Amino acid sequence: MPKVFNWHINREMEYPYEESRPDKQFAIIFNINRCIGCQTCTMACRNTWTFSPGQEYMWWNNVETKPYGGYPHNWDVKLLEKLGPQTWDGNTYAGETIFEKVPNDKRVLGHLPTEEDWAHPNIYEDTPAGDFVESTELPENSLWMFYLQRTCNHCTYPGCLAACPRKAIYKRKSDGVVLVDQSRCRGYRECVEACPYKKAMYRPTTRVTEKCIACYPRNDLDLGSRCVVACVGKIRMQGWLHSPDKSDPTNPIDYLVHESKVALPLYPQFGTEPNLYYIPPRWAPRDFLEQLFGPHVKKALAKYTDPDKKLFGLLRLFGTTETIISRFEVQDEVAIGFDRADRELVRVPLEEPMYIRSEYDQRHDVARLNEP
Ligand code: SF4
Ligand code: SF4
Ligand code: SF4
Repeated sequence: MPKVFNWHINREMEYPYEESRPDKQFAIIFNINRCIGCQTCTMACRNTWTFSPGQEYMWWNNVETKPYGGYPHNWDVKLLEKLGPQTWDGNTYAGETIFEKVPNDKRVLGHLPTEEDWAHPNIYEDTPAGDFVESTELPENSLWMFYLQRTCNHCTYPGCLAACPRKAIYKRKSDGVVLVDQSRCRGYRECVEACPYKKAMYRPTTRVTEKCIACYPRNDLDLGSRCVVACVGKIRMQGWLHSPDKSDPTNPIDYLVHESKVALPLYPQFGTEPNLYYIPPRWAPRDFLEQLFGPHVKKALAKYTDPDKKLFGLLRLFGTTETIISRFEVQDEVAIGFDRADRELVRVPLEEPMYIRSEYDQRHDVARLNEP
């Protein structure tokens, strides 16, 4: 089997196909700290792509409550159990990926969820873990939960693509988006079993697999994906990611992932080099976060908690424009986003101006209701 380099685990690994990176890679950053669990993103995707018969349980975007929630139910716990206890040696993953710990009759280690697992999209929503105490404070709360935003990761080494015996799944060279050629798919569901994130989904009415398409018709016009631009909490930043050796510090995605290193991949130990990145929640137990996001959690949180001006400004640009920001600048008082043609898209003050109304309205000769 060919050897490919996976920078998330800082080593070579086995993968059924040769390394082939796209010209640029679709990526989204999620700031978990800001998510309010409103599911507007979920419904934006649903209303655009999966509202037809046979797609009833097809939630390409979902937001689940960790630690207990998951769609399909226990998608990650089941794979972690199959993978068994694994370790990191500093920055390097010393364990086995899903392409290395493979059963004899398979190309990828995976599991097929049951119908029951798919039946409850929001199981354990808003259910916390831990102990209630009268007062709780950062850095870690004793009673905790957080929302995890999930779509297809458009992985650099997709499990779905590796497993497909029909070669029906492909990764676009132009933007790294992973798509299913439905005319080639025969519905064997090898991809459903192999995707570690369970984001390849079988449609019983057409008997083929469907999955998040990254809203590529919008991205081709430089517009953000539906789940990104609809986000009420402004927790999402979409753009194009380069590999670490080609990082551009003026590109917002490269800056968050490679330069400031505040955004981390979900379950890097699975080995697919996923292209969604998360700023971890400040209040959750560090050992749990390290299981999800790898060994760099503490450094990422330290940076996020005490950001320099450039990072602070970039965080202010999340959710401010429908057009994808290709370049950003942070000046004395403002953060500025530019489009692909380097035209200014948006300008956001670093400090929100605050206006306090006087208690007495001179113009109408009346006391305001906010009078103490
Ligand atoms: S998240 Fe799953 S469906 Fe998406 S590219 Fe990766 S392996 Fe394939
Ligand atoms: S990128 Fe588009 S298709 Fe994918 S989850 Fe978001 S809205 Fe749905
Ligand atoms: S729309 Fe944004 S804030 Fe609301 S659940 Fe989705 S990611 Fe979270």
